Amino acid sequence: MEFQEFNLHPVIAASIKEAGYVTPTPIQQQAIPTVMQGRDVMGLAQTGTGKTAAFALPILHRLMEGPRGRVRALIVAPTRELAEQIHEAFVTLGKQTRLKSVTVYGGVNVNPQIHALRTGVEIVVACPGRLLDHIGQGTIDLSGLEVLVLDEADQMFDMGFLPDIRRILGHIPAKRQTLLFSATMPPGINKLAQEILTNPVTVQVGNTAPPVTVSHALYPVEQHLKTALLLELLQHTDTDSVLIFTRTKHRAKRLGEQLEKAGYKAASLQGNLSQNRRQAALDGFRDGTYQILVATDIAARGIDVSQISHVVNYDIPDTPEAYIHRIGRTGRAAKSGDAFTMVCSEDAIMVRTIEKKLGATLERRTIDDFDYTIPAPKKDAEFARPPREPRPTRKPAAAKRSPGPSINPFKTDHPGTKPAGRPQQGRPAAAGGATKPVFNSSRRGK
Ligand code: AMP
Repeated sequence: MEFQEFNLHPVIAASIKEAGYVTPTPIQQQAIPTVMQGRDVMGLAQTGTGKTAAFALPILHRLMEGPRGRVRALIVAPTRELAEQIHEAFVTLGKQTRLKSVTVYGGVNVNPQIHALRTGVEIVVACPGRLLDHIGQGTIDLSGLEVLVLDEADQMFDMGFLPDIRRILGHIPAKRQTLLFSATMPPGINKLAQEILTNPVTVQVGNTAPPVTVSHALYPVEQHLKTALLLELLQHTDTDSVLIFTRTKHRAKRLGEQLEKAGYKAASLQGNLSQNRRQAALDGFRDGTYQILVATDIAARGIDVSQISHVVNYDIPDTPEAYIHRIGRTGRAAKSGDAFTMVCSEDAIMVRTIEKKLGATLERRTIDDFDYTIPAPKKDAEFARPPREPRPTRKPAAAKRSPGPSINPFKTDHPGTKPAGRPQQGRPAAAGGATKPVFNSSRRGK
C-alpha cells in the first residue's frame, strides 16, 4: 500500500514525501481512511507505531477546507513531551498547509500561549490542566471544534486526568469527530470510550507482546546493591544507548548523578526538572550526547527515541503491561535489543505476573565476579528502601514550580506533578511496608 492511495491533499502528500515516509504503517493503513470518512476511532496502538501521523494526516486533510483562524482540532495528551512531539508532527506534515498548531501545557509561561490562541490557530495540542485553565480564563474558544483526539488515554487515566478530561468534554461541541488512542484498554478507558465515541471503528496494532528482537533477563539482587550491579553490567556489556527506568523521580535523579560520577554520559528525565532541562536531557539522549537516560515511566513513555540498545529496569514496573511497554523501547524496527530487570525478593509476585503474561519464564542471571554478599550500609536506608511514589498531588507540587502568580495567573500542569507509573496495583502488600528486603534468590540463575 502507498500513501497516494489515501488521496490526501497534494500539499500534505508533498510533506509526507519530504518527511521520508514511503509506506504507511499498519495503524496508518487502518486509521487514515477511517478518519477521513469522518468516523470515530478507537485506536489501540502505542508510540513507535506511527500513530501520530495516523491521526495528524487525516486531520490536516480535513482542515484544508473550511474556516481558518479558529480552533478546529484539539489533541489532548498526558505529557508535555508528547504534546511537543505531536505538535512537531503537525508542523512537519502540515508544512505547506498554512495551518497553525500551538502547544498548551503547564510549567511554562502562559502568555505566548494566550498570544498564539488570540492570533488564531486551527490545531491545539494540550495537556489537560493548562487547557482547563485557558477554558476557565476564556482565553481559548473551542466552540468551533470539529475533531477531538485523546492520545495515550490509558496514560492520562493513570495520571489521574480523567476528571479533567470529563470537564474538557463539557466545554466542547457534542457534535464532533472523536479519536481515542490508547496502548492498553483497562476498564476505565473502555467505559470512557463507550461514553464519548459514537459508533467507533476499532483499529489495532499488536502491542500485547514485546518485540521478538528483544532478549530479556532478570538480575536478582538486593536493593542496596542495584547501583553496583548496574555499573558492573554496564562495564561488561557492549551498549549503545541505554534507557534505565526507576520507579520514582528521586531515584531517577540520584541514579543519574551516580552514573555521571562513575564517568558515564548520563542524564535523568523526571518531572522535577524544568521544561528546558527535560528537553535538553531528551535531545542529548537522542543525539548521543548522553549515552544513558534514567527516567520514570511517565517521563519516558510516549517518547520516541530510536536506537536504544538496552533497557534496564532498575526497579521492576508495577504491571506486566508497563513491562512490555518499557522493553518495547528497545529492539525497535527489527533491531535487536536487550532488557535487563533487577529484581529483589519482594518483586517475586510481579515477576510471576509478568511471566504469566508473557507465557514464558524469564532467564535469571548472575554476574560471576560480582560480590552479592556485601551488607547494606546503615546510612543508605533511603535508597535501600523499597521505592514508593506518592499518590496524585498535582496542585501543591505544581504551585512550587510555578513561575510566580504575579506573572502567571495559571497554575502549572505537567507530568512531573503526577505519580510516576501506575498506582501500586499488583504489587505485593508487603513491599511498601517492608523495612529491609531480604534477598534469597541469587542462586536461581546458577
Ligand atoms: P509515533 O508512533 O507516532 O510516535 O511515530 C514513531 C516514528 O515513526 C516517528 O519518528 C515518525 O516520524 C515515524 N513514522 C511515522 N509514520 C511513518 C511512516 N509511514 N514511515 C516511516 N516513518 C514513520
